[in-house]
Order: sequence, then C-alpha cells, then structure tokens
Amino acid sequence: MSSTDKTPSTPSSSSESLPERLNFIEQEIEKDLALPRMSGRVVTTRFPPEPNGYLHIGHAKSICLNFGLAQSYSGRCNLRFDDTNPSKEEQEYVDSIQEDVRWLGFEWDELHYASDYFDQLFDWAVQLIEAGKAFVCDLNAEQMREYRGTLTAPGKESPYRNRSVEENLKLFQAMRAGEFENGACTLRAKIDMAAANVNLRDPVLYRVLRAHHHRTGDKWCIYPMYDWAHGQSDSIEGITHSICTLEFEDHRPLYDWFCENLKIYHPRQIEFARLNLSYTVMSKRKLLQLVQDKHVSGWDDPRMPTISGLRRRGYTPESLRNFCERIGVAKFYSTIDVTVLENSVREHLNAIAPRVMAVLHPLKVVLTNYPEGQVEMLDAINNPEDPAAGTRQVPLTRELVIERDDFMEDAPKKFFRLKPGGEVRLRYGYVIKCEQVIKDPATGEVTELHCSYDPATRSGSEEGEQRKVKGVIHWVSATHGIEVPVRLYDRLFLNENPEDAPAGKTFLDNMNPDSLQVLTAKVEPSLETAAGGERVQFERNGYFCVDTVDSQPGKPVFNRIVPLRDSWSKIQSQGKTN
Ligand code: ATP
Ligand code: MG
Repeated sequence: MSSTDKTPSTPSSSSESLPERLNFIEQEIEKDLALPRMSGRVVTTRFPPEPNGYLHIGHAKSICLNFGLAQSYSGRCNLRFDDTNPSKEEQEYVDSIQEDVRWLGFEWDELHYASDYFDQLFDWAVQLIEAGKAFVCDLNAEQMREYRGTLTAPGKESPYRNRSVEENLKLFQAMRAGEFENGACTLRAKIDMAAANVNLRDPVLYRVLRAHHHRTGDKWCIYPMYDWAHGQSDSIEGITHSICTLEFEDHRPLYDWFCENLKIYHPRQIEFARLNLSYTVMSKRKLLQLVQDKHVSGWDDPRMPTISGLRRRGYTPESLRNFCERIGVAKFYSTIDVTVLENSVREHLNAIAPRVMAVLHPLKVVLTNYPEGQVEMLDAINNPEDPAAGTRQVPLTRELVIERDDFMEDAPKKFFRLKPGGEVRLRYGYVIKCEQVIKDPATGEVTELHCSYDPATRSGSEEGEQRKVKGVIHWVSATHGIEVPVRLYDRLFLNENPEDAPAGKTFLDNMNPDSLQVLTAKVEPSLETAAGGERVQFERNGYFCVDTVDSQPGKPVFNRIVPLRDSWSKIQSQGKTN
C-alpha cells in the first residue's frame, strides 16, 4: 500500500490557490525584512526542544510554525536541543525528537546543542562580571525568594551585590572549579531589584550543580539557566526570529538585556499562544508521569498525545500538518476541540485509505441454500474516493459472520438491517433473508442466523442490481476470513480539561477507565499480509492501522485510529465510553 510518509513536503494547504492571509508572525516578519539587522540574512528560525521527554502535538505546532516560516521565506530553520538541565535529559529523548521532526516531514538546516555553547556562555558571563554587571551571590534559594519581592512589592538588593569585580571573578572561577557545594552560590546579573518585571530582579545566570550531562559528561559543575542560554544560543546561530510560547513574553526584556549588554547579534523574540487540546494533557511532566506510573504502555502508547503515540495510532504526518495549519497561530490562549484533530486524520484517510471488510463483533450466519464448499470471488472497490486504487476480490462462502448489532430480534420499524423475516444486501454480494434465529437454550443469546440467499440478486449484475433493499451490511467469510486482535482506543481522559480536578484529586483521577478495549475481529483474508503502519478503513467501522510494535508477519494487530464519525458525544450521553 502506498504511503507518502517519507516524502518531506511543504505543509500542503487546501488554500494553495487562495490568496494567502498572513498570520500575525508573518506580518511582523514582513515588517522586519527591511531592517538593518536583516541585511545579508535570510529569515532564520529554530525549534528548541529540551530533551527531557518525547514531543507532543503542541510541539508539532511549534515545529510546523518554525519550519513553515523558513520554507515560506526561503530561509533556514535549525533544530537546537536546549540541554541546560542535565538531571532530566537523556539521549533517548534526543533520538526520538529527531525521528519525530523528520517524520513530520521537516529537515533542519543545522543541528545544535545549547551545551555546545557552554564555553562561550561562560566567557560571556566573565565579560558581564568585568563590566560590573554580574556578581556571585551567596543567598540560598529560600533567602533569594524572600529578597525577590512580589508582583506588587519591590525586591531587596542582595548583601553580596557590591562585591568587587576581582572578587566576583575569583569566586566565579571557584564555582567552575568545583569549590562550592551544590546550591551554595549563584552568579546573578545586576539589573534592578525594583523592576516591575520580576524577571529583571537580578536573575540567576549560573547555579552550582553536580550532574552528569548527556553530552558534556562531568566537565561542568555549574550550568547556565535557561534565560542565560537561550537568547545567546539564538544569537550565535544567527536566528533572526526566535519564536516561542506566551509564557516567555515576560522574559523578553531579559532576552533583550543580555543581547544588548553583551553587544552581540540581537534576534527578535515573538510569542504565540501554546496549543491546548480538550480531553488531553500536554505537559511533558504529566506525560512522563503517565509513562512512569504505567497508566499507559509507554511514550508511544497509541492513546498518548505524543507524536510517537499519534504515529503508532495511525495518524499521518499530513493530517498533523494540516491540523496545525488549520488551528493557526494567535496571541491569546484558547483550547482547541480534540475533534478538530480527529477530523483532520479522517479527512486525509478518507482520501487515501483502502476500504476492507472487518467484523468486530462477529455473529455467525449460514446461507442454508448456498452450496457447501462453494467459494465465489466477488469484486470489491478499494477506494470509492480514488478510482486508481482499483478493486480486489473477496471470498463469499456458505458460512459468514456479520456484526452482532446488524441483527435485531425485536427491531423497530426503521431498523433497515437484518431482522427475523427481513432482507438485507451483503455488500458486493446478494440479498439474504433471515429465516431462522438460533439461540443458546441456557442463556437465550442469539448464536447463529439461518438465512437464504437469492442468487438472482448479485451486486454488479444488471439483474441483481434491480432488487433494491434498504440495508447493506458488511460481512466476512467465516471459513476464509482471519481472526485478528483489534484495539479500540478512546480518549485517555473523561474531562474536557483533565487538569480540572477537585481538591485532593489530580488529573489521574480524570482518566477514562475504558480508553482501551481489545477485541478479536474477523477480517478479510487480504489483510493477512498487511504490514506494520498500513492504514485501512474497516467499512462502516472506522480507520485502523496495523500496529508497528505488536504485529508479526502474517499476524497483524490493528489499532483503531478514529471511528468514521464523531460518535463520542452521542455515546457519552448514553453513559458509555465505548
Ligand atoms: P512542556 O510544557 O510540554 O514540558 P516545554 O515548553 O517545556 O513543553 P520544550 O521542549 O521547552 O517544551 O519546547 C520546545 C518548543 O516547543 C518551545 O519553543 C515551546 O515553546 C514549544 N511548545 C511546547 N509546548 C507547546 C504547545 N503546547 N504549543 C505550542 N508550542 C509548544
Ligand atoms: Mg521547556
């Protein structure tokens, strides 16, 4: 089956032929193009993840935005690992992030690590000290909090603020040389303890921290703070537009202060609102907790909002890019309904996914007048949306299975599927009539239906098509179909806002206990050779993907990507979740 996953491409847009409306970031960039700081430069952006977890759908928004801007302005985009926090960072995360960015269809111009700049950052810190703009402070964390003041009250100056340049240089070298305990002292910028913006109240630039770094090993026992590393890393790489989420708006004056006082190239920081999705938690810390406490099978559990989870679930890169384009960028927080994400994959799969017949809850049907041992190969259309996808053959036999809920014993008038004495058409096949209902005498459960078929009604023949019945149902040969495990996934959380938990409870208390249901389904024999990652539509049931981890050759395991329609609100109101 063809897959376009590997083709890196510009985020395809349905609006290609329409005049493009610029988003607010593009409007700002347009204004900047003529500025002196852009002369001799192309628009240069970066995606700067901290390698402390797997990427999630929120990161996809940032990736599409940063790489997308570089593409639209024929510019450049770097991937930079913001690895200044050694205790939480790992190579596994570095690898997964690169895989995810590439899978989304983007390739970076340069790959960097903030840790590659540790020497330069240290030298710049020395430069600030020499200029009398930084000092070594012995206040401990608690004292520092007291001195910081509040949003309404100014802070107090540290008693160590007026140390001489010489003393500060000596102490800073001693910090680096490992002469202080963790947390014993910090290097701070000397800005303004009365500043209205708390971030400017003598922020910490370095802390003493003995931790093994995944790249620099044990070379350092002091590490730069995020704010000290970020803007300067942008500057070193010649980033022209440093795009980040709104929480950093209050850090921008600090970003600017560092560039100005170090007299280095000064990129422009622009903030946008982070993506929030309903029924979804999006912070890496919470996702890590789901993994560590085994609420899910791993970062790539198909219920996770991680890129690896969505990929394993069966989402296509195109559908994620289209989603990111559709939701746009704004300066104000909002929550996007998770159905927008689900619809984006439905839309793409409707166009590309081959249709097959699969029965999730099998009920046996015997066609009593169909010759024993006879097998008829019926032509089935692979994709009505794509004539080029052609046809395949599906075996019809005397014994079949149909969906349990396609039969009803005491059916209401408008039930157009199978009922005692009623008729229905088998998809691509014949009209059948339910003659007899067989039950388990002990439980009363329907175990088998005996039906007759009308040989004159075969689909595709002129005569056969003349017989119109209201219902058409899918089916699978009981003898030729294969049994496969099918996993029906549902939302991980029952609450629109999972973080919204009553006192004493956490987001974990809002988990959906029925987010995974495993069935044994009967599917067309054509699926026996389906390979990991293949996506199909089970007619009338939804889109499914062959699991890449648990499938074996000849033994596919299917994950439900999404049902055909958004049935969640309806089902929910009936008090069930599946
Ligand atoms: P989290 O809060 O989930 O831990 P983070 O912001 O700490 O995420 P980083 O690795 O620092 O994660 O993020 C890398 C980039 O992705 C940053 O530029 C960040 O602003 C952006 N980003 C993170 N989460 C979102 C989101 N929900 N929507 C849009 N962009 C995001
Ligand atoms: Mg972060």
